[in-house]
Amino acid sequence: MLEHITASELAGYGVGALLLCATISAPKVDSFISASQRSSLGMCKKCGDLRLIACSGCKGTGLLKEGGLFSFSPMDDAYQSSGSRSKMRSFSCTRCQGRGHFRCPECSTLTRG
Ligand SMILES: [Zn+2]
Ligand SMILES: [Zn+2]
Repeated sequence: MLEHITASELAGYGVGALLLCATISAPKVDSFISASQRSSLGMCKKCGDLRLIACSGCKGTGLLKEGGLFSFSPMDDAYQSSGSRSKMRSFSCTRCQGRGHFRCPECSTLTRG
C-alpha cells in the first residue's frame, strides 16, 4: 500500500499534518504565548508563516464525514487523493468550502515575494 509513496512525500504529509494539528489543537493561552514568540521571531502571529489557518470545523481536512466519529490520519488523506472512492459518506465542509483551511488574514494583506 505504501509503495507508491516515497519517503519524502510521506514526510511532507506528516509535517503538514503536524503543523495543521498544532494550529488546531493549541489552546488559546498557548497560542497567545506563542503569538508573542512568533512576532519576536518575525513570524506571522496568526499562522506562524504557514499562511494558512486550519479550519476548525473539519479539522483541516475539508471533509466532514457522516457518523460523527472523526479519525484524521495523513494516510487516509493520501488514500483519498489517490483516486479511490471513500466508503464513508463525506461532504465538503461548508466553513472552508472543502479546502480544509483558510488563508491567513494577516498574511493575505502582506503580499511577499
Ligand atoms: Zn499568517
Ligand atoms: Zn472546514
